[in-house]
Amino acid sequence: MSSAEDRANRWIRPEFLDATAYHVADVGDVIKLDANESPYEWPREIKQAWLDRLAELELNRYPDAPASALQSVIRKTWGIPEQFDILIGNGSDECIAVVTSAVGGPGRTIMAPTPTFVVYQNAAELFNSKFVGVPLSENFELDVAATIDAVRQHNPACVFFAWPNNPTGNLFDRDAMEEVIAATDGLVVVDEAYGAFSNQSFLGQLHQYPNVVIMRTLSKIGMAGLRLGVLFGDPAWLTQFHKVRMPYNVNSLSQASAAFALENESVFARNFAILNTERDMLMQRLHAIEGLEVFPSDANFFLLRVTGEPGVAAVHSALLLGGIAVKNFHRPATPLDSCLRVSVGKPEENVALVEALTTIMTS
Ligand SMILES: *Cc1c(COP(=O)(O)O)cnc(C)c1O
Repeated sequence: MSSAEDRANRWIRPEFLDATAYHVADVGDVIKLDANESPYEWPREIKQAWLDRLAELELNRYPDAPASALQSVIRKTWGIPEQFDILIGNGSDECIAVVTSAVGGPGRTIMAPTPTFVVYQNAAELFNSKFVGVPLSENFELDVAATIDAVRQHNPACVFFAWPNNPTGNLFDRDAMEEVIAATDGLVVVDEAYGAFSNQSFLGQLHQYPNVVIMRTLSKIGMAGLRLGVLFGDPAWLTQFHKVRMPYNVNSLSQASAAFALENESVFARNFAILNTERDMLMQRLHAIEGLEVFPSDANFFLLRVTGEPGVAAVHSALLLGGIAVKNFHRPATPLDSCLRVSVGKPEENVALVEALTTIMTS
């Protein structure tokens, strides 16, 4: 009898055999500034009411399959007009997978300006599409001419814009994005994962374009553990996406928790302003440290380039040794050369970061 390994090697699609799984480093009990999560737990004042809501659920029953109750709360809270349909995903990662499997496949291209969120490329390749990344300009702005050239050349089934972009933190120029949207026949997904921090949305323009859908997530605004992503737009697109989504893709606990959280949105929203203020303060302090370059940000994180001694790898590991995790994006001779991505934490965590970096860069 041949071994499990032999059989797996024979049957697993060859493109996966040499691939590596999405790796999330276990950083242990440290100050977590590496995943763009909210540093704030749910306030105690609403926790009991939330638990009471969960206690009413009948977990012996399947969830509300299209999550209609949650959809209504989302529609009301975010002001999504009735003319648009909504799809709830298990995180926006699942929404990305739904879109890329619906429009992708052999001979099809998925496109995004790069560097950007890696899941777009991973999902594109998972469903056998070609991924084309169009390099951003020097200051991480959209290169409109190059992007439109690439659109003409590859005729992409789908273009992803992370708006603001991750890991660069900036918000692409709205007009630049609209030029690309107008030049594209395929779908454009505007990913507003960090929209709560930029205070910008494409929702007001959505009705003007037959090829745009918007994606949001609760992950960056205090609910990363729920895994709740939202896709909305013209029913012509959304009806098809619902066919691709697995039934019961979002569990009852997440649906109820998300609805509860959005009904109490003001409790979470007060953190956004605090984090924006903290971000600006933190960036200013780090900018003052010699050997660090800080990039502008409209999100709850920012990009930091280590231009001085002891170099990016040593800075990253010294921070970790000192109990602070940030994400290392360093790839030599790429636009992210010597770059770390830093999520904004609580005030005391940000102070700890500034102190640690000051010590590391001056010793
Ligand atoms: C974090 C992130 C997501 C993933 O969100 P989940 O809902 O947690 O899957 C999507 N898009 C961008 C740009 C992100 O940074």
